[in-house]
Amino acid sequence: MQSFYCDICKKKIDNSMAGRNFFYYAEHSLCEACKDNLELQVRSAIRANDPYTITWYSKFIGDSISKAIQKGKV
Ligand SMILES: [Zn+2]
Repeated sequence: MQSFYCDICKKKIDNSMAGRNFFYYAEHSLCEACKDNLELQVRSAIRANDPYTITWYSKFIGDSISKAIQKGKV
């Protein structure tokens, strides 16, 4: 079993299992709480952003994660 650290809140994730208690998002590993918060943020931004494109989406995800990493939270 490997341990991971969440890229955003730096919390240690024991017995990590991708898709269960930690998640890969745009090349970063996130804990469940940070992933949920990020998805909420992204979901409301998607509703506000019209037209919606994959390019915009990938950029938005990348930017949101970079910002969250800088702040240490989503
Ligand atoms: Zn986290």
